[in-house]
Order: sequence, then C-alpha cells, then structure tokens
Amino acid sequence: MYDRNHLISQLKASSMGREDDVFAHLQGGETVSFGALFSGAERMAAALVSCGVLPGDRVAVQVAKTIQTIELYLGTVMAGGIFLPLNTAYTGPEVGYFVGDASPRVVVCDPDRLGEISAISGGAEVLTLDAVGQGSLRDLADGQDGFDVVARDPGDLAAILYTSGTTGRSKGAMLSHDNLASNSTELRDYWRFTADDVLIHALPIFHTHGLFVATNVALLSGAKVVFLPGFDPDAILKAMPTATALMGVPTFYTRLLADDRLTRARAGNMRLFISGSAPLLVDTHEQWEERTGHRILERYGMTETNMSTSNPYDGERRAGTVGFPLPGVEARVMNEGAEVPTGEIGVLEVRGANVFQGYWQMPEKTAEELKSDGWFITGDMAKIDADGYVTIVGREKDLIITGGFNVYPKEVESLIDDLPGVLESAVIGAPHPDFGEGVVAVVVPEVDGTSAQAVSEALQGQLAKFKQPKRVILLDALPRNTMGKVQKKALRETYAGIFADG
Ligand code: AMP
Repeated sequence: MYDRNHLISQLKASSMGREDDVFAHLQGGETVSFGALFSGAERMAAALVSCGVLPGDRVAVQVAKTIQTIELYLGTVMAGGIFLPLNTAYTGPEVGYFVGDASPRVVVCDPDRLGEISAISGGAEVLTLDAVGQGSLRDLADGQDGFDVVARDPGDLAAILYTSGTTGRSKGAMLSHDNLASNSTELRDYWRFTADDVLIHALPIFHTHGLFVATNVALLSGAKVVFLPGFDPDAILKAMPTATALMGVPTFYTRLLADDRLTRARAGNMRLFISGSAPLLVDTHEQWEERTGHRILERYGMTETNMSTSNPYDGERRAGTVGFPLPGVEARVMNEGAEVPTGEIGVLEVRGANVFQGYWQMPEKTAEELKSDGWFITGDMAKIDADGYVTIVGREKDLIITGGFNVYPKEVESLIDDLPGVLESAVIGAPHPDFGEGVVAVVVPEVDGTSAQAVSEALQGQLAKFKQPKRVILLDALPRNTMGKVQKKALRETYAGIFADG
C-alpha cells in the first residue's frame, strides 16, 4: 500500500470496498465501476512506465474527453509522473510550444493528428487515444497487468496546467499532490458531496474546473458521475431528474435557460447547481431561481490557485459575488502595497494550501506573482464587503484608464446589462488620441432589443462622464473561449482603431 498523502490514495479512499459500485454512466448507456476505473488507471501507469516515464516526467495529453482520459490522468499520477492536459482546440504550432517548454517523456494525441504532433514532439514517445478511448496507448495499456503506485511526497508535482495565456505566452502552473488533494477535500466538505451524489460532468477535462473540481471532488466523495463528452443540453436535461448536482460555466446556465424543458419539476431531484470560471450575470442567477427554485452557488478560482472562494452552502448565496474564502484560504485586497479599506477595489491576493508551486521554468514570473510569504497576486480586481463577501470586478489588465481616471468595466457592464433590451455586454478600452484610452461598450441586444443610441442615452444620467462609453457597438454575440470567458483581448484587437480619427 502507498502513502496516504498520495493524491491517488486520497481519491481512492472513499470507494475502497465499493469497487463494484458505479462511478460513471456513459452516454451510450454503459457504466464504469470504481474498480474498473482504478484498474484501467493502473494499466495506463504500467504502459507509461514501459515507455520510460520516470517520477517527475511530464505526460502531455491532447485528446477527447473519455473515461480513458481520466484513467490516463490517474495513471500518470500513479506512475509518479506529471499530468499535462492541453486544450483540444490548440493547433500543431501551439502544441509545439507546450511540448518545447515542458519536454514531456510521452505525448498522447488523437490518431488523426499523429503525423502533425509527431513532427513537433521532440524526443517524446507519441501515443494515441481517440474519441472512444481507443488507440496505441489503449493497446499498450490493455496488455499490462497491475501496477504498484510510485511513492511521492505531498509537495511533489502531480500536474502542470498551462494558463490560457490571454497576455503573452502561456505559463505552466505547477500543482502538487497536496494542492489538488487539499482543495478537493475542502470543496467536497463545503459543498457537502457524498457517495449519494450524482454529478452531471459536462465540463472539459483539460481545465482545472472539469479535471480537478468536478473529477476530483466526485472521486473523493465516492459519488457517481453522468460523464458527458461535452456540453449537450439534451443530455443534461435528460440526466437531471435522477442527478443531484451540476457544475458548469455561466454559458451552461444561459443555454439551459433558453430551453423550455428546464422546469422546476425536472430540477426537483437536484440539490446543487454550481457556477464558476467566468462571471455569472445577476440576471441569470435570478432567472434560474425563478425557473427551478434553486439559487446557483457561484465560486471563484483559477488555474494557479484551484478554488479560492465560494458562496455558502447553507447561508445566503449572494448573486454577483463569489462568496467567502474557503476554509484554509486567506484573501485580501491590496493597492500599492497596502490592504484597502472594506468595500474598496484593489488587486486580490490569496494564500493557502491551494496555491500552486510556481510557473514551470519561469522563476522571474513566479517571483513577481507568488511572494515569498505565500501570497499569490491573482491579477483579479476585487472588493470584499463588510459581511466578507468577495466580488470580482474583472482582470487588472482589463482596467481602463481614460484621461487619468480608472474605469472598472464591470461597473459599466452591470448598468448596461440592466437596461431593457440588453442581453449582455463587454466594456473595453481602446487607444484614444486625447484620453489615452476611451471606453467602448460592446452590447448584445435581446431579440428586437435596443439600439446603440438608446444605450448611450440611458447611461448619461447614471454614470460620470468619463465612465460613459464613447462608442457603443452592437454585436450578435460576444467572443468566448471554451470555458465561457469573454475574450476581451480579441475585442480590444478588433476595436483598436476605433478612435483613430479622434
Ligand atoms: P482560469 O485560470 O482559466 O481558470 O481562469 C481564472 C480566471 O477566471 C480568474 O482569474 C477570474 O478572472 C475568472 N473567474 C473564475 N471564476 C470566476 C467567477 N466566479 N467570477 C468572475 N470571474 C471568475
């Protein structure tokens, strides 16, 4: 038997003695037991070791979401390796950057991309897994028999997740066994997950949300998952009457609200809807409660810190806020080296067992953002009110400085979103010859909704002149990434020249 501090022993503990119980319901109607999952993972571990994977080696993985991908994650960690998942949308040259940066021993990719990935794999062994979990890695694993988990210390790395890289190059966030195990344990207890839960798992597993929040919390609780390859409203609505929990990004909730089959009766067996990874509109929160009777529980985290704050399970879930720091996590709001008074905006810093070990091979970046006393500068602007609720007001780099004045996009977006005929909005700064930056509002109207002029006029009495958008642009939809985050960088690029003639 191995050390109880090992991530794998923790993930396995609650299903010990229940090996025949179902862990996952797959879309085709098949099920996977806890026993089958962990023995599949052992075979993956043995396959990786047969390819030369040693403790501390990276295993880079760009494959579809299947149970075999979960087995590969667990198998990598069993082998003492470091799991490095990559967004399936990344192109060959993008994967080339990650492989060059992380120098993995093994790269696992879709068989369709074998040629392209082999060309950029450096010295790594390239294996395949397809969208139904078949491929050369599976073949190699199927021929293996059992595996003794490789001992690791709590501070040893279990995963490297690259940040989405909205500014500059992506950075590899190094996450230890203890970072992952401690955070999932806190979340399991805070959100009251038990072996009786049935979690609808529809998130991608190349990201912290689907991989560590959803998968680790379910395994740690011995809960079942309805394992979906991606977001599919039909499948989610079908699963809902017998499920108990859903973890999603805000777009899951807005898209489900657009479906008439979402009713109070259908959500009757559910006990918890969780949202995170991007801001949930107050409007979505309210509509969801009206339709289903449930208040969505919003939480906040990031690749580098796992989850840091959450609205309470029993107490008031306050729309527009991300709740309180989780047990064991400290949070403070700073401005120019000092903590700001209650309710004022500054940069959020967090400290705790959840905070990562630094950026892979970037000691200077690490030193800039992760202080020697353990505080991590998140780069999110936030405020903490007198009751202790944290509100995220946006990324620091999204702050607009116009004529020397700070404009927090969220303040303007919240007012615009409340206007009649507006679905949602994104407020950005664009270079301006007089003001440095000028405020631009990109607005998505409802069907037969508003006009740019109506938005401008409505804001006049509500906002100081410098905060008022100098341009309002109507769009059918905001650009978003797979995690539902609005791509403000793309908007800034599109509208970079909007004030070019003053
Ligand atoms: P990622 O590292 O991809 O998980 O992105 C983390 C970032 O997403 C955070 O730094 C926040 O800017 C944003 N984020 C995550 N959860 C929330 C939330 N509940 N509300 C607002 N922003 C969020």
